[in-house]
Amino acid sequence: MIRFCTRCVYPETKPDLAFDDSGVCSACLGFEKRAEVDWADRRRQFVEVTDRYRSKQGSNYDCIVPVSGGKDSTYQVIRLIEHGLNPLCVTATTDSLSEIGRRNLQNIGKLGVDCIEVSVDPVLRRRINRIALREVGDISWPEHVLIFTIPVRMAVAMRVPLIVWGENSQNEYGGPATAQESQVLDRRWLEEFGGLLGLRVSDLVGLEGITERDLIQYRYPTDEDLRSVGVTGIFLGYFFPWDGYQNAIIAQGYGFETFPHVVEGSLASYENLDNHQTGIHDYFKYLKYGFGRASDIANNHIRRGRLTREDAVRLVRRHDGRFPSTYLGRPIEQILAEIGMSLDEFNSICDRFTNKRLFRLDNRGKPVRDADGNLVPEFTLS
Ligand SMILES: [Zn+2]
Repeated sequence: MIRFCTRCVYPETKPDLAFDDSGVCSACLGFEKRAEVDWADRRRQFVEVTDRYRSKQGSNYDCIVPVSGGKDSTYQVIRLIEHGLNPLCVTATTDSLSEIGRRNLQNIGKLGVDCIEVSVDPVLRRRINRIALREVGDISWPEHVLIFTIPVRMAVAMRVPLIVWGENSQNEYGGPATAQESQVLDRRWLEEFGGLLGLRVSDLVGLEGITERDLIQYRYPTDEDLRSVGVTGIFLGYFFPWDGYQNAIIAQGYGFETFPHVVEGSLASYENLDNHQTGIHDYFKYLKYGFGRASDIANNHIRRGRLTREDAVRLVRRHDGRFPSTYLGRPIEQILAEIGMSLDEFNSICDRFTNKRLFRLDNRGKPVRDADGNLVPEFTLS
C-alpha cells in the first residue's frame, strides 16, 4: 500500500520526495518555509541583481527570458517590463504546438518585447520523441532538453549574460533541500533536475541514423563560451512568491487565452495548452508513479488554502491518470501518427513502463484495462 502526504495528495512514489515523522511531504514543508521569507527584501534583491546586468545605454538586451507562451512566461515578461527591463524573449517551439499555444505566443510579443523563436528540424525531433518514449517513457524528452539549452545558447550568441527563468520546479513540487533553495539554474541543475531520466543527448548519436551535427541545439554551450559571456540564470520564483493560478489571472489580464474547458487529465484550463503531446507525457508519470497533473494542480491549491484535501482527493480520483485518448481536443491516434507510432505500439510501451506494484495485472502479469482503457489502481488515495 502506498502512503500519501497527510497534507497534500502526493504519493511516496514521487521521485525525490521525502516525508517527515507526521507524514508531511517535503513539497509541503518547503512551501511552509515561504511564510518566513521577507518578500520585500527579495524584491530589493531582484532590483539589485537586474540593475547589475542592465545594459548600459541600452546597447543590448537587459536579460533573456525563456518563453513558451504559457501563463507563467507571460507573467515573467510582465514582471520584467514592470521593472523597466528590456528582455529578449526566447522560445523553443514545443514538440507539437497547438493553435491556442501559437496565439498565446503571439500575445507575448504584443506586450511590447522582441522575440526569437528557434524551431529545430521537426523530422529529427519526431524521431527523438519516438526514441525517448520507447527508451525512457518520456515523449517530451526533446522538449525538456531544448527549453533549457536554447535560451542558454541564445544568451551566448547574443552576449546577454542574465537569463530569468520562472519557478524552480524543485521548490514547488518538492526536492532535495539544496535544490529547493537554489536561486540559480546552471548546467548541474539541468543535468540533475532537468528531467532527462538518464538519457543523455550524446546517447542519441548512432540511433536511427542520428549524427553529432543533428544535435547542435540540443547541446548546452561549452563552459568556455558560458564564461566568456558570464552567463548566469536566476529563478523569478525566488524573488516573487510563485503561484501558477495567480500568474494565470495576471496573464489573462494581458490577453493570455485559456482553454474553453478543463484540459484532459488536469484540473485547470489555464496551463499546458501549447503542446498536444503533454497528455501522453503526464500519463506516463501516472504509469510510473501513480499520480498525474491533477495531483500537481490540486496540491498547489491545497497549499494556498484554495482547496481542502478532502475535495482534492475526490477531484484527483476523478481526473488523474485517465487514458489520454485526446489532448486539447486532438485524438491520440493523430498525435501518435505525427511521430510515426501506432496505437498498438503505444499501448505496449505503456505496459512496459507501468509500475507493476501499483496497478492490477492479469494472470500473465499484463496490466488490466477497463472498458475506457484506464488502468485499475491497486492503491487508494484517501
Ligand atoms: Zn504534501
